[in-house]
Amino acid sequence: MSILPVIKYPHPLLKTKCKPVSKINAKISKLIDDMIETIYSFPGCVGISAPKVGKPLRIIIFDVSKHKKAPPSNHNLTVMVNPVMIEKKGKTITREGCLSLPDFTGNVTRAESIKVKGKDKHSKRIEFYLVGLESVAFQHELDHLDGILFIDRISSLKTDIFTRKRYL
Ligand SMILES: [Zn+2]
Repeated sequence: MSILPVIKYPHPLLKTKCKPVSKINAKISKLIDDMIETIYSFPGCVGISAPKVGKPLRIIIFDVSKHKKAPPSNHNLTVMVNPVMIEKKGKTITREGCLSLPDFTGNVTRAESIKVKGKDKHSKRIEFYLVGLESVAFQHELDHLDGILFIDRISSLKTDIFTRKRYL
């Protein structure tokens, strides 16, 4: 496994609609393993998507279990290939950050609880409910697959975006 370089805004891949994965072959499995190693190389990072490491494919990985705001019902490390959100409920506002926009954080409104489906890294169909921070992490990474960044979702550049010196 290897840690992959993370692309930064305004790289054009961050504005690209990513393609579905047709088959989880050896190359895709290696990409997933490398994305897992990459996410854990950034302490505090709760999610990553394939376009962030330069691959325009519909793969996301999240793990909120180590975060102080993790919901007790979280699913630990989760790999989702071709993820889809099939239900959403409620609203929550979270201060979000992004490895591809290391200089900013922003207040983003998203659904509080969602039902999602997709495939795991063994091509098995998966479907479950996500709440709180885990729901937010999923929605942030799903947006990346459609070329949407958290800064595209904040309502006011004046009051909802903040600069920071370094990532975490
Ligand atoms: Zn991001």
